Amino acid sequence: MKLKFSNMIRHFLLINRHKWAVFKNCVRCGIVFRGIVHDLSKFSPQEFIESARFFQGNRSPIGVCRRARGVSYAWLHHKGRNKHHLEYWLDNDCEVTPMMPYKYAVECVCDKLAATKTYAGGSYTNDMPLRHWYRYGNRVSGNPRTMMFLEKVFLDVYEHGERYVLSKKYMKRTFSEICLAEQMPAPLPVFSQMYEEERAKYDKMIAASRK
Ligand SMILES: [Zn+2]
Repeated sequence: MKLKFSNMIRHFLLINRHKWAVFKNCVRCGIVFRGIVHDLSKFSPQEFIESARFFQGNRSPIGVCRRARGVSYAWLHHKGRNKHHLEYWLDNDCEVTPMMPYKYAVECVCDKLAATKTYAGGSYTNDMPLRHWYRYGNRVSGNPRTMMFLEKVFLDVYEHGERYVLSKKYMKRTFSEICLAEQMPAPLPVFSQMYEEERAKYDKMIAASRK
């Protein structure tokens, strides 16, 4: 794909729109600084040029580039520098994937909630973050407590809505109950039907992309 100037502008605006949505979530959760510096590496040439080249508007250019080239250098650059991504913490040589510290785990939630909303547009519903988690999120072999923290937040979004989780009090309490507790809490309930549906969608998508 050719690099178009119009797509450079569009991509620049999209980054800022996403950053603004994440910033508002971060302010509600009391991590203002994380909201300001969120995803700044997207402005680096390594990330910006590739993403502008594969710009689509309604989905992530990273996936588009991966399918076209078999690799996305923008993503490899991004995940290596942004601690709010589960992938940043992956290290095969660690016995257990290190746990994401509080501020990055909360930033991760703020990011995922904002991204789900942006891509869903007007048709956003409270089950979407949990669906997205079942379809893609929980495939990463992250730290078990970090994974449980994220899952718990998305379950609460599903049951009580976004406003319920976007507060400093909620985040502090939930993080300490799951990530700082002496014993790892019992597994969370899985909404089996939703889970099955999302897994099936993912498998179908993968099969289609291999054709
Ligand atoms: Zn990011």
